[in-house]
Amino acid sequence: MGQRKPIVAGNWKMNGSCELIKEIAAVSTQVSSEQCEVLIFPPAVLLSEAISAGLTCGTQTVSEFESGAYTGEIQASLVKSLGANYTLVGHSERRSIYGESDEDVANKFAQAQQSGLTPILCIGETQAQREQGKTEEVVKQQLEAVIKKLGIASLANSVIAYEPVWAIGTGLTATPEQAQATHKYIRDLLSDYDKHVANALRILYGGSVNESNSELLFAQADIDGGLIGGASLKPQSFKAICESAKG
Ligand code: PEP
Repeated sequence: MGQRKPIVAGNWKMNGSCELIKEIAAVSTQVSSEQCEVLIFPPAVLLSEAISAGLTCGTQTVSEFESGAYTGEIQASLVKSLGANYTLVGHSERRSIYGESDEDVANKFAQAQQSGLTPILCIGETQAQREQGKTEEVVKQQLEAVIKKLGIASLANSVIAYEPVWAIGTGLTATPEQAQATHKYIRDLLSDYDKHVANALRILYGGSVNESNSELLFAQADIDGGLIGGASLKPQSFKAICESAKG
């Protein structure tokens, strides 16, 4: 992992409660901040509560627009003003359920950065794409949608989450070797654009990470922590996952 400080980020999706915020806040204080950065992505309606409890937070998505008549959308600048620092963009559930295209994701990435949020750009292939040998092609296209719009320098203030879609919420995890191979491909691809940006960038793995598989995944040279769904709702599991990330 070199000098890259690992991140363990919990994506609560449309789950969680004020009670869970208290429990996760309690366990996160037991994780050394030297060891890893702990981030929580609660539902947007719980953001203030989570920030007040001392958690470092972000939203699960943001609008690509600055402000205006977009009923129900989440305004990035308001998220920032509440004291949050991050947002996910392009989570596979946003892409598949809500039809977000690579272009939409690049626009959200841009809006997040303009508002002072650090985007965590989620990328990854479906099972069919992996079976067709298209994993690298897919992640390249997802990354280049952002690079073409905003330039490689924009990635300096971002985080990547590689999440094979077939591993999200399924209990199927990429093996450490499979995950490392794609993480290395991503870093090498970015290195061709800018070595410094590529070396400093944190690339998280996501997809059914739990306390039994996190240590081996996080030990891989190009894996800088994880984006955790289901297990981030279980305080003791989440704590164990955080402890397995070593800076
Ligand atoms: C996710 O939601 O990004 C995720 C990786 O979920 P899970 O850990 O449940 O597979």
